[in-house]
Amino acid sequence: MTRHYNFCAGPAALPATVLERAREELLDYRGRGLSVMEMSHRAEEYLAIAEQAEADLRELLAIPANYRVLFTQGGATLQFAAVPYNLLGAGGTANFLYTGIWGKKAIGEARHLFGSAHIAASSEESGHSAVPRPSDIALSADAAYLHYTANETIGGLEFDYIPEAVRPDGSEVPLVCDMSSSILSGPLDVSRFGVIYAGAQKNIGPAGLVVVIVRDDLLERARPDMPSLFGYKALSDAGSMINTPATYSWYLAGLVFQWLKEDIGGLAAMDAINARKAEKLYAAIDGSGLYANPIVLRNRSRMNVPFVLADDRLDKPFLAEAEAAGLLNLQGHRSVGGMRASLYNAVPEEAVDALIAFMADFEQRRG
Ligand code: PMP
Repeated sequence: MTRHYNFCAGPAALPATVLERAREELLDYRGRGLSVMEMSHRAEEYLAIAEQAEADLRELLAIPANYRVLFTQGGATLQFAAVPYNLLGAGGTANFLYTGIWGKKAIGEARHLFGSAHIAASSEESGHSAVPRPSDIALSADAAYLHYTANETIGGLEFDYIPEAVRPDGSEVPLVCDMSSSILSGPLDVSRFGVIYAGAQKNIGPAGLVVVIVRDDLLERARPDMPSLFGYKALSDAGSMINTPATYSWYLAGLVFQWLKEDIGGLAAMDAINARKAEKLYAAIDGSGLYANPIVLRNRSRMNVPFVLADDRLDKPFLAEAEAAGLLNLQGHRSVGGMRASLYNAVPEEAVDALIAFMADFEQRRG
């Protein structure tokens, strides 16, 4: 068996030790005589798995007690709708920082559902190559909350600070963050946020699961006309089990949290590894004559590293040779082309070293 290096943006690489553990437990979960996939979500042994996963996530992110953690479904995309439904109950306008394609989709959904959305700052003029500075952010007087995308997965643009969500009159509103492609990449001050959500299929586990972290005072702001499955309060009251949750994805997420705690040593250790991986890949790109990345240094994503080749006729051979060398999924998003190497938590440092060596060799032969 050979496991190649997988640079996919999502569904992304999972730690080999997690997959091995899942394999060991696949047919007979710890002597129970059945697979986790076959358990009732109401069974005691499944509830123990679900609760342990939440406890481990809380420990990793030091989630304060006044936050609820939801394990729900519908992808991060469903949260583009669920957030306004949950937070616009008392009226007001959804405010956004617009820094790329995922933010644009969130804005589009709020507009589609509620007719308006205020863009409090945008990086469009720079071609999304630098996030707005704090002084550029101007919320509307009626802002109900401020939403931003911590890391734009396609553009490879990451915030280097946590924005303030303050209306012109100085009053604070909840800060909402789509953290799909950067959650768990390092320590986080959860107390700065009203809502954090993340699709699982990058740093959490397999697809089919979304984690929502919501401050409990925000549970009462929902619109009454919302589908019940969207509701943070209803989900929280039901332990994320209004209906059947994505039981196996939740279990695997729990194994990933254990891997982060036990094998990696927590998020500070993960942060240091991620910093090293990204630094060396960007250094290789900047030091070459063939590869280029357009993002300003302070906003370069640590998780998703897009780059172009000086001659796009080399794209196809680059991808084909990379794949032959066991370096998978380096093609950029279909909307932008070029290349992208996603360096999520489960992509080991050796994978980045192998990619850098391949890129140097390719440049020497073909550049
Ligand atoms: N937000 C971000 C930042 C993403 O990277 C993605 C997926 N790549 C999404 C939202 C959409 O996620 P999903 O496919 O889970 O709906």
